Amino acid sequence: MSYIDNIISNIEKRDAGQPEFIQAAKEVLDSLRIIVDKDNTYEKAGLLERLVEPERIVMFRVPWIDDAGKVQVNRGFRVQFSSAIGPYKGGLRFHPSVTLSIIKFLGFEQIFKNSLTGLPMGGGKGGSDFDPKGKSDNEVMRFCQSFMTELYRHIGQDTDVPAGDIGVGGREIGFMYGQYKRIVNRFEGVLTGKGIGWGGSLARTEATGYGLVYIVEEYLNKNGDSFKGKKVAISGSGNVAIFAAQKAMSLGATVISMSDSNGCICHKKGINLDTIKDIKLVKRERLTKYAEIHKDAVYSDVSNGRVWDIACDIALPCATQNELLLEDARKLSASGCKVVAEGANMPTTLDATEYLLSKGIAFFPGKAANAGGVATSGLEMSQNSARLSWSFEEVDAKLKNIMVGIFHSIDDAAKEYGKPGNFVIGANIAGFLKVARAMLDQGV
Ligand code: NDP
Repeated sequence: MSYIDNIISNIEKRDAGQPEFIQAAKEVLDSLRIIVDKDNTYEKAGLLERLVEPERIVMFRVPWIDDAGKVQVNRGFRVQFSSAIGPYKGGLRFHPSVTLSIIKFLGFEQIFKNSLTGLPMGGGKGGSDFDPKGKSDNEVMRFCQSFMTELYRHIGQDTDVPAGDIGVGGREIGFMYGQYKRIVNRFEGVLTGKGIGWGGSLARTEATGYGLVYIVEEYLNKNGDSFKGKKVAISGSGNVAIFAAQKAMSLGATVISMSDSNGCICHKKGINLDTIKDIKLVKRERLTKYAEIHKDAVYSDVSNGRVWDIACDIALPCATQNELLLEDARKLSASGCKVVAEGANMPTTLDATEYLLSKGIAFFPGKAANAGGVATSGLEMSQNSARLSWSFEEVDAKLKNIMVGIFHSIDDAAKEYGKPGNFVIGANIAGFLKVARAMLDQGV
């Protein structure tokens, strides 16, 4: 059995109850065969065994009191996966689907994503099975305070710097930061995604969605094309989806569809983003509202329609993991889609990814395509350390530069290792090499 097969088989045994982690690890390990099979340095150093095992996992009880005075208990997680190239860095997800497997897959992906940004950040991820949906602001505050009451002892500006993710936006970061500061009595850059008036970076909110569009734009430009006149399908209607839509529209594209966890909306003449922002960011309502406001838009609930049913040139899955399945990939290919870029983490299943690649569709994996968020978090950390604030334009220009750099590093790696145009292999190899070198230099 080859070294990589051995590692995969061990993960399947030891982490048998963690399907998402196994899926993410397999995708990366499969891409690494090209280098690891040729060079036994990695096997001699036991490097892959180390890479797939988090440096530390913290799991904890999060008790809080709801508005009815009843005690509720959730489960908290922080997986500190790799500090080879910098302090652990990665978001916190609050969603009822959160398990150790989900946090481990996200933390594992984060290692390579952070490496691709070129900034000194290790990989980590955390969260809770708490559902902020339908909770009052006071309930969310009490939960966040309780969560941080345990998490604070495991993080720090030079140790581990969490950020937001699904269910964790500015409100949640604010409550957690407030609690951290009360406990440690220091105002420091321990979280990113902070409010602009208290250490946050301009353009952080927009960064993941904008970065996603920048990497696709660079690819299109290199092929003599652009976003102008393109039809774009986007899943999700949260932070990443909204700002990807905003940037794509500003470059001349028409965004024809968006979704939430209950259903999707198709608006052929172009989604009205002001309506989406009002529904999702201000009123925190469901997408059904959109079709009540725009009569020419069509709403389908999850049981009878998907974002990927509608013909588009570019598909941007920006909601959650495993939301673009093999049958969706078939539909996209048949309807003429040319580019799929992942705004979410691992939204495309492995068989769907393989299908898209086999059809010559340009496929950008999340670890490259959505790295703009964490890259701008890195820029927020730099501003905090220097006690400076850069303008929106300065941060946006740096973000664009980073995304263009990521495109070229994954494109070059794919070419160098004999798989031109395969950005999955390019991203995995380019991300891995830097981390592997650091691990070899630092010893066991
Ligand atoms: P938000 O919570 O702001 O939005 C998530 C969106 O996805 C919502 O529209 C939500 O619908 C939908 N969604 C969530 N879970 C499901 C599900 N199980 N089925 C269908 N739809 C679902 O999160 P973000 O926009 O921040 O994150 C989206 C993705 O992007 C995640 O995979 C995240 O890990 C990734 N990402 C985010 C970054 C960031 O900077 N925010 C950085 C890099 C990656 P509903 O409103 O119904 O819940």
